[in-house]
Amino acid sequence: MGYEDVEQYADRETFAKYSDLALRGAVSQAPDFVWCPNGCGSGQIHESGNEQPIVTCGKCSFKFCFRHQVRWHEQLTCAEYDSLVSDPENFRSRIDILNEEAEKLRLAEQLARRTQEEADRRLAQSLMAAEQREEAERQARRERAERERREEAERRRLQAERIAMQQQAEKMRMEAVRKRDEDELSRITVEKTTKPCPGCKWPIEKNAGCSHMTYAETPLI
Ligand SMILES: [Zn+2]
Ligand SMILES: [Zn+2]
Ligand SMILES: [Zn+2]
Repeated sequence: MGYEDVEQYADRETFAKYSDLALRGAVSQAPDFVWCPNGCGSGQIHESGNEQPIVTCGKCSFKFCFRHQVRWHEQLTCAEYDSLVSDPENFRSRIDILNEEAEKLRLAEQLARRTQEEADRRLAQSLMAAEQREEAERQARRERAERERREEAERRRLQAERIAMQQQAEKMRMEAVRKRDEDELSRITVEKTTKPCPGCKWPIEKNAGCSHMTYAETPLI
């Protein structure tokens, strides 16, 4: 019985049903036709085929894969879904790999951050140590300058003392010279103007031409 026969003999309802069935039969042969895997009995042409494999059922809104005829495998491409099905235990999805890479990146960044923090801490410590060392050096310089100042003052004091002693000694020497010269002059004067007493040897003044003699006030040593 052909299409025309049905049209000719069947009532309107039967024809509609047959027409639908025939349509379905014909359409289901099309390469882009797909049945809804959700069991709603609907099927549809999915013109983009495997290129864009996500299909949403026009009747029940079930979202499924055109190629695999299963609920749409979220986050997996069809190739990844094939890998998952062929080795479910060892399958690592793109998302897993991305997550692993993100975790590695996070750990690497954490390590880099800690390394940087450690370097900063060491730098701060060395700066602090350098500052302390500089302060210690400044303090040592201040102390050395103060010591040198004291030593210089002491040196000048000793020099002044030595000069004063030298001046004192010079003064005493000159006084001694003067005294010696005076004594010498005095002795010469006494020698010129006196003669020893013939009796007690004390110098007595010469009274030229005069026989009278008196004792000099002081004896010669
Ligand atoms: Zn459906
Ligand atoms: Zn698929
Ligand atoms: Zn005498």
